[in-house]
Amino acid sequence: MIPYARHAVTAEDISAVVEVLRSGLLTQGPVVPRFEGALMELTGAAHCVAVSNATSALHLACVALGLGPDDSLWTSAITFVASANCGAYCGARVDFVDIEPDTYNLSVESLRARLLDARRLDCLPKVVVTVHMAGQPVEQEAVWDLAREFGFRVIEDASHALGAARHGEPVGSGRWSDITVFSFHPAKIITTGEGGAALTNDEELAWRMRLLRSHGITRDPARMRQADPGPLDYEQVDLGWNNRMTDLQAALGLSQLKRLPGIVDRRNELAGRYNELLAAVPVRLPAVRAVNHSAFHLYIVRLNATTGRSQREVATALRNRGIGVSLHYPPVHLQPYYRDRGFAPGSFPVAEQYAGDAITLPLFPDLQEAEQRFVVDELAIALRV
Ligand SMILES: *Cc1c(COP(=O)(O)O)cnc(C)c1O
Repeated sequence: MIPYARHAVTAEDISAVVEVLRSGLLTQGPVVPRFEGALMELTGAAHCVAVSNATSALHLACVALGLGPDDSLWTSAITFVASANCGAYCGARVDFVDIEPDTYNLSVESLRARLLDARRLDCLPKVVVTVHMAGQPVEQEAVWDLAREFGFRVIEDASHALGAARHGEPVGSGRWSDITVFSFHPAKIITTGEGGAALTNDEELAWRMRLLRSHGITRDPARMRQADPGPLDYEQVDLGWNNRMTDLQAALGLSQLKRLPGIVDRRNELAGRYNELLAAVPVRLPAVRAVNHSAFHLYIVRLNATTGRSQREVATALRNRGIGVSLHYPPVHLQPYYRDRGFAPGSFPVAEQYAGDAITLPLFPDLQEAEQRFVVDELAIALRV
């Protein structure tokens, strides 16, 4: 099977992990801060908190922003469920925004319209989570303008977009949001096995997320309630979790991060080759805006209704030929969990249409040209009526 995604681990990556295994500290050692520093250098963000996965980064981001049961969180209708679930963890009401028909990112126009309605009804969201779908940056400056106008906080779910840029500025700079979250799951741009990070330019938010990732415990005398803490004292000043990243994971991430520019270039090269090979096949190709540099986490095509082949028929045919096509993503509001909370088909029509005809083709750095030709040939055969 050619999977839709596959991680790459080099001999150098393995040595970096082995070095930590031979060192005195497997967790809470020096490598996690080093990995955090490298992510700050890459993005330009002032603070970075590495955690156990992006799901926990999203959760801690929501808690740090004060999201609670009286609040709402909005996110794109087309994303991985974790972008929405972080709101539910906090007891907040989760709602969705429809997508743009060409980039599959949250539609800023639709967001503005819904915010105007929500202001009239006095139910504005506290947090909006944008998602850089497939690695292509959202029109984040416009979202940030709306955040100032309507008074909400912004989390960028950049799980797909490590190494992506907009107007030449790296995703994660923190200029257009409160917190940016990356994922290092093996399907993503670089991996730490499991892993994630939250970046911000706000020192207090960074401090809170760091506190929450480790039980809500601090050893900083300035943050303690007692007047004169001794060298053995610590205090739990909030309710946190254990969402720490290990030094083993950070060592893998640090080693992988060195190759990031080459990985993103390679992904763009493979996407460009798919574009050429698919020129004569009746599918809609990914559209990347001129101001965006996509990390190309996913290569998504849209089936053309006139071919007469359904998404299901095409996906089944390709899977039967050993091609691990996938759908990113079924609309989150139509998941049973969210249907049970009042959502139904018809609420976000652009997202629902997308989910009915989108297919993710295999894309990962080690994908070979012959494999890409095989995928495209099999897709053309599957589409022939
Ligand atoms: C992968 C992914 C996540 C979750 O990442 P984990 O590190 O697996 O928790 C969240 N949001 C999006 C958009 C993702 O693709």
